[in-house]
Amino acid sequence: MEKKKRFILPEEEIPTQWYNIQADMVNKPLLPIHPATKQPLKPEDLYPIFAEELCKQELDQTNPWYDIPEEVREQYKCYRSTPLVRAYGLEKALDTPAHIYFKNESVSPVGSHKLNSALAQAYYCKKQGVTNVTTETGAGQWGAALAYAANVFGLNAAVYQVKISYEQKPYRRSIMQTFGAQVTPSPSMSTRAGKDILTKYPNHQGSLGTAISEAIELAMSTPNCKYTLGSVLSHVTLHQTVIGQEAEKQMAMAGEYPDIIIACFGGGSNFGGIAFPFMRHTLKEGRKTRYIAAEPASCPKLTKGEFLYDFGDETGYTPLLPMYTLGHNFRPANIHAGGLRYHGAGVIVSQLLKDKMIEAVDIQQLESFDAGCLFARAEGIIPAPESCHAIAAAIKEAQRCKEAGEGKVILFNLSGHGLIDMTAYDQYLAGDLTNFELSEEEIRKTIDEVKAL
Ligand SMILES: *Cc1c(COP(=O)(O)O)cnc(C)c1O
Repeated sequence: MEKKKRFILPEEEIPTQWYNIQADMVNKPLLPIHPATKQPLKPEDLYPIFAEELCKQELDQTNPWYDIPEEVREQYKCYRSTPLVRAYGLEKALDTPAHIYFKNESVSPVGSHKLNSALAQAYYCKKQGVTNVTTETGAGQWGAALAYAANVFGLNAAVYQVKISYEQKPYRRSIMQTFGAQVTPSPSMSTRAGKDILTKYPNHQGSLGTAISEAIELAMSTPNCKYTLGSVLSHVTLHQTVIGQEAEKQMAMAGEYPDIIIACFGGGSNFGGIAFPFMRHTLKEGRKTRYIAAEPASCPKLTKGEFLYDFGDETGYTPLLPMYTLGHNFRPANIHAGGLRYHGAGVIVSQLLKDKMIEAVDIQQLESFDAGCLFARAEGIIPAPESCHAIAAAIKEAQRCKEAGEGKVILFNLSGHGLIDMTAYDQYLAGDLTNFELSEEEIRKTIDEVKAL
């Protein structure tokens, strides 16, 4: 029989709704807390920062489905559905009886899944009459997505890019600027938050936490300006559920259902995006599926962090979020997977991990690039350094299948391509990349600081 490799949906099969898993969760996520009043957050508390519709989506624990606005769905049609691909080449290279599939989000115009939420956020800002949007970006993936979406909906975008990434990944900056965004390396002297951090640590290389503080400060001090976020928050993950909904239909076209679903983990949006539509069947029908989040060993909030109320940013501008965290003062090593260098995990995923609905693994930097190169040679796609973590976790599971002689079905999300990350591959190929070992004391220090709040 002819073996089918690539599964694509016709336009009319692109999802028309986003799935809000909060409505179906047995234990709902705890509510974020207002840091000043210590009261549970209400949508109105977030209005100064985000577009109103997004604030409602963020805290909604009852509505399982949200209609995707027609204008957003029109934009999705430029690159969706994304292909579901059977990784025959990788299966062969591993000599595994497992069936491996990946959902290829790298085909979006900016090269990652981030656009799925950027388009939605820019749309709701525009609809509300907002003229300017700000954000932070690590590797530049989110900044590129927001720059693209702001351009589509006619908004001005100002992006704070983590300094280390600004320097390591100059082409992401060019992409953002090409789409018309203004880009500033963070920490910068343009905000109070940036100045404070630079005064304390003059050589600070930046982190998502510091860049978030700067972007929020700009949004709050600029009229008609809203902040946007590319990960961590529940509304971001909501928009990403187009990934899993498509994958459900595409797996059905392949005549299979995944036993194991894997994604890399920064704040949880691509993980939730692929996993939650499937998890709906676990919650409603008791379907047995394993969900594995793959995080970097140098930023292990899921495997070594603690479930606490913590700030989402370094300065403490955000609400207190109930999440697995390494502490908002945790400064991750300068690994190349910039999109995974964040100290906390989204509140939905945190609750699911607490309830043992999902699993987490940590992956060392060298192992992630070993996996990325193996994948590139087997499947012909160079994965983003972030996505390499998902591939490494998928390879481990496929090897386990080989040892056990089990033909499990593994699905992972290829969150992005690595074509703008070739400096990282250069260093890996030259043998210049290292792993980062974190001591128990290092992790304890920033966690204990949160506990002392
Ligand atoms: C941002 C990013 C991630 C991590 O973010 P999540 O919200 O955890 O998905 C992973 N992969 C790529 C390619 C990214 O750009």
